[in-house]
Amino acid sequence: MPGGGFLNLPRETGARVILKPGRQGPLQRGRRWVYRTEIDRIEGDFQAGDTVQVFDAYGRFVAKGFINLRSMIAVRVLTDDPDEPIDEDFWIGRLNRAWNYRRLVLDDLEACRVVHSEADGLPGLIVDKFGEFLVVQTLALGIDRWKPVIVRALDDIFLPIGIYERNDAPVRDLEGLEQRAGFIKGPFDPRIEIREHGLRFLVDLAQGQKTGHFLDQRDNRLLAGRLARGARVLDAFCYTGGFACHTAAGGAAEVTAVDASADALALARSNAERNGLADRIRFVEANAFDFLRAAADAGEQYDMIVLDPPAFAKNRRALERAYRGYKEINLRAMRMLVPGGILVTCSCSHHMDRMLFEEMLLDAANDVGRRVRIVQRRGAAPDHPVLLGMPETEYLKCYVLHVW
Ligand code: SAH
Repeated sequence: MPGGGFLNLPRETGARVILKPGRQGPLQRGRRWVYRTEIDRIEGDFQAGDTVQVFDAYGRFVAKGFINLRSMIAVRVLTDDPDEPIDEDFWIGRLNRAWNYRRLVLDDLEACRVVHSEADGLPGLIVDKFGEFLVVQTLALGIDRWKPVIVRALDDIFLPIGIYERNDAPVRDLEGLEQRAGFIKGPFDPRIEIREHGLRFLVDLAQGQKTGHFLDQRDNRLLAGRLARGARVLDAFCYTGGFACHTAAGGAAEVTAVDASADALALARSNAERNGLADRIRFVEANAFDFLRAAADAGEQYDMIVLDPPAFAKNRRALERAYRGYKEINLRAMRMLVPGGILVTCSCSHHMDRMLFEEMLLDAANDVGRRVRIVQRRGAAPDHPVLLGMPETEYLKCYVLHVW
């Protein structure tokens, strides 16, 4: 079995990270990050990735976590309990806790997120399950060093046929970690067929975006399908056709699905065929901004439009531009909806929070003279929970709007 290399596991050190005055509050209220700028001084020896103890300015214990001073997020909290050891049993316990939570909240465990990072008390760790296979990302240095233990525990808990590592994720640069991808347990054919709310999708664990499939949207895709009967639908930013297939299966009269990626569209076509829906979905390789502009200018009309773009705002500085991007696509979509049409509009930028997103939607609606009602304010599926006290763990917004 995978693993080995246990010699270089992180150690639990006596090193003490002392915070600047007043900086313990957010940690005690649930934030699981200590920013580098919040640290006053560090006493004792440690290596990057080791467990350190965090104290407030008066020397009171606050938390324990792993440290990496190369990152802006210098310490990621693992426990509030000074006596809880950070050893192999700790990781096994946390992984079991994460899996038990999914067993509680999900009806269907075939394809789901098993570990959602900080929100599962496992900072920097993402594990997605696709049938008998797991995809793993270790996005922080501390968790990356624990990878042999984590992989062995995952193998014991899930008995997967294969495990694939998708550590080709740009955020790893911020931690000083290299880009890498490949089999941890394998090899196997990385194109896996999964079922999602009764439909079948081919997921490419090796070449697909992120871990291969956007599991967070699956309940929103189901809902879109339920609202699509008889509709003329536009799925912009369709990726491998998730919304397109669900709306077609829900009885849409015709679906136009647009994406800029030829690879994504090839999978999307095969997914449409796999579900016997190919005759009702037209796939278009285009920049969605251009497509929306041209379609709106040509007077096209739709009963339902889905907008699920990539994160436009990767950081706070990019927010103003991102706002304009979101507004542009939403405005054009609203213009093309028939009176009483449905807009399913999403943002996966954490920095675009719900208040700003709604402001943008109102701004767009006013510009095109439409009245918009919120049918549902949704987020990610329950296997991507949000940690109260840590708004950074909330990223996906999915609004179902009724547009007059
Ligand atoms: N709705 C999809 C996920 C969308 S992910 C699902 O349910 O699975 C965002 C998609 O937008 C990606 O497939 C990416 O290729 C595509 N994309 C990014 N920029 C684009 C652009 N300017 N025009 C069209 N597609 C774009």
